Amino acid sequence: MPPLAWAALVTAIFYGVIANATSSTVGLIALGFAGPAVYWLSLKLHPNTNCRHCRGTARHRGWLFNYAHRPCVQCAGTGRHVRWGYRTFFSDGKKAYALEQEARAKAKAALRKRH
Ligand SMILES: [Zn+2]
Repeated sequence: MPPLAWAALVTAIFYGVIANATSSTVGLIALGFAGPAVYWLSLKLHPNTNCRHCRGTARHRGWLFNYAHRPCVQCAGTGRHVRWGYRTFFSDGKKAYALEQEARAKAKAALRKRH
């Protein structure tokens, strides 16, 4: 089970226990604190996600000769992207995202020069 699914399960159980023990209002308030805390921890531990275009392989494959490949331009050949939450809520994430955008622009320019 992936870590986020575990976090969701633990949060759901926590919410269920609190809601049964007291009232749903207390449970909702507890979920209001626990949900963002779990998301924050997830972002802190895992700030990156796989590139959607190359699925984390860092390679762009040809559609006809699919054994042929080049570095993926979208992730600049890294296979990863900074997660939305990390680049939005963390100052390190903003810096990492700026570097990622810069690397992407360079990779696109290099691809254009190749032709
Ligand atoms: Zn990629």
